[in-house]
Amino acid sequence: MVDTFTKEQRSQIMAKIKGKDTKPEIIFRKLLYSKGIRYRIHYPVEGKPDIVIVSKKIAIFIDGCFWHKCPKCCRLPRSNKDYWLPKIQRNIERDKKTNKALKSKGWKVIRIWEHEIKENSQGAVKKVIDSLG
Ligand SMILES: [Zn+2]
Repeated sequence: MVDTFTKEQRSQIMAKIKGKDTKPEIIFRKLLYSKGIRYRIHYPVEGKPDIVIVSKKIAIFIDGCFWHKCPKCCRLPRSNKDYWLPKIQRNIERDKKTNKALKSKGWKVIRIWEHEIKENSQGAVKKVIDSLG
């Protein structure tokens, strides 16, 4: 395939891809690791948790504030509410079901809002450390 991008465009695209590494989930994983917490990702268990501490049966979800309707920062767009609301509602229902299913199998579920990592990442890490017992 012929490269149709200019050098500038190319570097812009690369910057965008690189930006993915700074998303809250990655930041949080690095923090946990720095605290000596060893975890798994893509662990095959109900609801596909973002992070799993297998030995302690702890499932951690990093919930996007918009998609999971964070009470603090989710602002639904005024237009197209009929489009967004059912989608978000479905996510919330799924979250509840996942929590229930995991708990019934002896898992501890920790849900962390994206904004918690952005605003107080140490507090979010503490949530996990406290749950380790
Ligand atoms: Zn939030």
